[in-house]
Amino acid sequence: MAQPVASVAALSSDGIAVPSANPGAASSLERPDLIQQNGQREVFCGLTSIVWLHRRMPDAFFLVVGSRTCAHLVQSAAGVMIFAEPRFGTAILGERDLAGLADANEELDRLVRDLLERRPEIRTLFLVGSCPSEVIKLDLAKAAERLSRQHTGRVMVLNYSGSGIETTFTQGEDNALLSMVPLMPRSDEDQLLLVGTLADGVEERLTSLFQRLGIGLIRSLPPRSSTELPPVGKGTRMLLCQPFLSGTARALVDRGAQFVRSPYPLGVEGSRAWMAAAAAAFGIDPATVAAVLDPLVERGRRALAPHREVLAGKRLFLLPDSQLELSLARFLQQECGMELVEVGTPYLDRLLMAEELALLPPATQLSEGQDVERQLDRLRAARPDLVVCGMGLANPLEAEGFVTKWSIELVFSPIHGIDQAGDLAELFSRPLRRRALLQLP
Ligand code: SF4
Repeated sequence: MAQPVASVAALSSDGIAVPSANPGAASSLERPDLIQQNGQREVFCGLTSIVWLHRRMPDAFFLVVGSRTCAHLVQSAAGVMIFAEPRFGTAILGERDLAGLADANEELDRLVRDLLERRPEIRTLFLVGSCPSEVIKLDLAKAAERLSRQHTGRVMVLNYSGSGIETTFTQGEDNALLSMVPLMPRSDEDQLLLVGTLADGVEERLTSLFQRLGIGLIRSLPPRSSTELPPVGKGTRMLLCQPFLSGTARALVDRGAQFVRSPYPLGVEGSRAWMAAAAAAFGIDPATVAAVLDPLVERGRRALAPHREVLAGKRLFLLPDSQLELSLARFLQQECGMELVEVGTPYLDRLLMAEELALLPPATQLSEGQDVERQLDRLRAARPDLVVCGMGLANPLEAEGFVTKWSIELVFSPIHGIDQAGDLAELFSRPLRRRALLQLP
């Protein structure tokens, strides 16, 4: 669903302490070439983010309060765990609940009690709202408060919405992190706070690089243990790892964190700029940044070269789905030589995306939200070489002869950082190589 653009301007500028990495960013905020759409959309809902969040916090449990459809979605996206108990589940709202004939709160309390008796290792329980729970106006915030009281000292109960009425699939993570922000302790000590889920190995690599740059204290949200929430306060420099954390970023700024503006860590140049922005926020000399990062940059550019051969000059159409589209477009245009036909995004957060917008070619056709049939008409007319889209559209487009890339793969793959730039480019060059092989006589 397209978000009102006005909501984007709501972030207080008090917390923006670090100068823009690109002084031209402000001029890019007004874009006459933006198509805003508010029609039918084809994106996964926020429940999908449970797939990566439950892996990140093994002591948490995600209980979707929803329908059988919701249960199928999460289970098929996350896979069935054969050797371990799952850390997600669905409290299925039956017909009696939906018709208001049963007290869904009583049912929920009983189910949570049974779950916690069976699973003593659960430390944080997320009640995740869905379309059905939204429609019957089940108040999960009150339920979380009540259950927290009932199980004080045993488990922390939080709630957020993953409903498809309200969220696209990456907004599920934003809502989950947002629910944790009020519980973060206060501390004004100097620290770098990495915000957004990264693959564990990627996070370790980036943390060791930040330490080599001279940043002493580095913490993450979400943490690896759900009960070890990082503190936040005036000494916190917040560096977003993902561009879809609008609500969380604003809540952290309200808690005193300083927002480090930067492009996102996708590709060699984006990742270098991202790390350099963090270093600048701690007053670290650019020469130190160059000494640590330049050898990696050289290696990263070499890793990109074979993929650039495939991608350069190819025309790219990104449909709105993951909210990574602007960063991907910047990387694929700037570092891989692709031509941008249209860059769609579910919603355009002009503050969080200012540095990315400034790096896109000025005439780039952007679109915000979706009116899927009209967008597909534009796509068919343009005949791009590669389409990045959701799974639901990929197969029909392949059947029409388009080469596609599932955008959901990008949130499940370790793509952040200079070291990963080659692998990121390969995700886009592979389908083009495959098509070329299939077309060989
Ligand atoms: S939350 Fe809504 S969109 Fe998502 S699976 Fe459930 S019913 Fe479908």
